[in-house]
Amino acid sequence: MKMPPFVLHSPSSITEAMSIAETLMDIGEDFDWISGGTDLLPNYKWHLNPKSSVISLAGVQEMSMLTSTHIGGMVRIHDLCNSPSTHPMIRQAAETIASVMIRRSGTVGGNICLDTRCFWFNQTEDWRRSIEWCHKCDCDTSADCRVIPNQNTLCVATYQADLAPVLMCLGATIHLVSPQGERSMPLSEFFELDGMKRNVLEEGELVSHLTLPKEAENWNGAYRKLRLRESWDFPEAGVAVAWTKEGDNLEGLRVATTGCESIPRLHEEEASLALENWNGAESIKELGQAIRKAVKPVNNTYFPPAYRRKMLPVLVKRAFAGLNSEAEVL
Ligand SMILES: Cc1cc2nc3c(=O)[nH]c(=O)nc-3n(C[C@H](O)[C@H](O)[C@H](O)COP(=O)(O)OP(=O)(O)OC[C@H]3O[C@@H](n4cnc5c(N)ncnc54)[C@H](O)[C@@H]3O)c2cc1C
Ligand code: SF4
Repeated sequence: MKMPPFVLHSPSSITEAMSIAETLMDIGEDFDWISGGTDLLPNYKWHLNPKSSVISLAGVQEMSMLTSTHIGGMVRIHDLCNSPSTHPMIRQAAETIASVMIRRSGTVGGNICLDTRCFWFNQTEDWRRSIEWCHKCDCDTSADCRVIPNQNTLCVATYQADLAPVLMCLGATIHLVSPQGERSMPLSEFFELDGMKRNVLEEGELVSHLTLPKEAENWNGAYRKLRLRESWDFPEAGVAVAWTKEGDNLEGLRVATTGCESIPRLHEEEASLALENWNGAESIKELGQAIRKAVKPVNNTYFPPAYRRKMLPVLVKRAFAGLNSEAEVL
């Protein structure tokens, strides 16, 4: 598993990064952004779509700012876990990501933009050669997808990062920069239901930071995750639930999932229906079933899709555990 050769560029500002990106694009050279490298470098070692150039964001100081409403793309997951300004729900999700060592290098930008995963894809080159590749990394063979066979246009690899559902529930906005300028959008509109494209990022565009509205501090909630080994595994299914209360009354409710499809998803319809007819434990049960119906996992991660769906109502129920005793969750 030798690392393929690539040219490393190390800008020290976003402006410099954009200028390098523009130059590479002008000469038709493919490149990837790299932040902590905890996902990209293992993928390169397995020869999963490596590029000839890599632009490191490690020296871009302006992307490391962390406050209660501003999270830079280069903020390390470890810092997110340990900063007093981190919202408790974000901290809770961050603490479930991988291991301490990976969290020290891994960043928020890399976590949000994490490549989708599939057990036909996240394998060594020899393993993939033995099955004659798959559509996402086809070595110019036009190989079919192994999950949805007899076609090579769709990839349904699974998005398995933990931060997105919590950030969606807190109303995060994502901020992008490209040589053409800047744009922003709600995080829930950033992802694309395509295991290869993954999100709306265009060539040369990066995630500079995320912002949270001031009112995010009024939302409480929890993140619950199904995984094989508690020590460091990716979510096989993840549920974030957030609420606001006025006295004992539920005022606001948001639910989002990860690890179930090619995108993390904010379930606005299901949450507002539950809120309209709120009836405590009964509503939590119905909401869990509605989420189970809404997501469509495929057979490409460790646990079978039927089990992952079956666990969604359980995760929803667990995430609500602190609704009437918030100290327990936060
Ligand atoms: C053993 C192991 C266990 C793991 N477990 C988990 C887990 O439980 N939960 C989880 O969520 N993740 C897990 N991960 C995945 C990963 O380590 C983390 O998601 C980490 O946060 C990725 O951040 P990074 O900075 O290292 O990303 P990188 O590897 O640097 O980049 C990842 C991807 O994002 C792109 N990218 C990086 N930064 C930007 C940016 N600012 N703008 C645009 N694109 C960008 C890169 O081009 C690349 O495609 C695990 C990884 C390993 C190796
Ligand atoms: S979903 Fe299909 S195309 Fe995508 S990585 Fe898996 S096997 Fe390959």
